[in-house]
Amino acid sequence: HDEEAAARAAAATADNGAPTIFDKIIAKEIPANIVYEDEKVLAFRDINPQAPVHVLVIPKVRDGLTELGKAEERHKDILGELMYAAKIVAEKEGIADGFRVVINSGPAGCQSVYHLHLHVLGGRQMKWPPG
Ligand code: 5GP
Repeated sequence: HDEEAAARAAAATADNGAPTIFDKIIAKEIPANIVYEDEKVLAFRDINPQAPVHVLVIPKVRDGLTELGKAEERHKDILGELMYAAKIVAEKEGIADGFRVVINSGPAGCQSVYHLHLHVLGGRQMKWPPG
């Protein structure tokens, strides 16, 4: 089952502070389909979309913010920037009337890339509870 395999794979990974694939996307060393960008954040389409709209919003500078569970006081401003960028993305994608924002944190949260990111999902009826 694809979902179970993905969950197992994510649960098998953990933050080790190493650079991630998102650094290469920020540096434009590997291509990404960018939907929004400003001084502090970058938003691009997920390579494995779970909804018609599935965009990842990340800080351009990780600054130790590998996962939400490790956020510190100094990260409060960038956390706000990311949340607001999610709303801009939803507007740009035409889903501002209904969408979901997800942050997976740590192995039990099914996080697989240790550079904090918001998933912006929409374009279909979302369900609750998530898996
Ligand atoms: P997480 O599982 O850590 O919450 O989310 C990581 C997300 O990054 C996954 O949804 C995965 O599909 C996406 N992803 C992983 N590698 C790449 C990549 O190289 N390019 C893009 N656009 N998305 C990626």
